[in-house]
Amino acid sequence: MDHCGQRRTRGRGDNGRAPCSTGGGQDGSHAPPVTFDPEKLEQLLKDDMPIDIPNPYEREKVQCLLCKYNIRLDYKNSRFLSQFLSPYTGKLYGRNITRLCKKKQKELELTVEHSRGAGYLAIMLKNVEFLKDPKLFDPNQPIRPHNF
Ligand SMILES: [Zn+2]
Repeated sequence: MDHCGQRRTRGRGDNGRAPCSTGGGQDGSHAPPVTFDPEKLEQLLKDDMPIDIPNPYEREKVQCLLCKYNIRLDYKNSRFLSQFLSPYTGKLYGRNITRLCKKKQKELELTVEHSRGAGYLAIMLKNVEFLKDPKLFDPNQPIRPHNF
């Protein structure tokens, strides 16, 4: 025989079955009655949901020096430009050393070229193979004082 006694609509099939199962449980008096609170369940589910946190593995955004401080390169500013040049060879350091972005590195290359053409930076430097040559004399220790 049908326990529920009446026909349920198909749409609420889960709800319709619930009274049938609890009805069976009430027969055994030793089991405590199970109370079902849908609001409490919803709250529990809400607490159990993943929390939105910032990605701990995200790489920090690196900005190059010139972009960070918004420095405009000037071919007349030779002291600033010389910081990107090797003091031994006079060559421009690569991007692995200067840590500039591609755009600014290219701009720097052109500016250094411009500065050399205008005579603000040296073009001729000691050859690399002569850098380790022994010192012939010390210009800071002259025999008699001089003004140059
Ligand atoms: Zn940059």
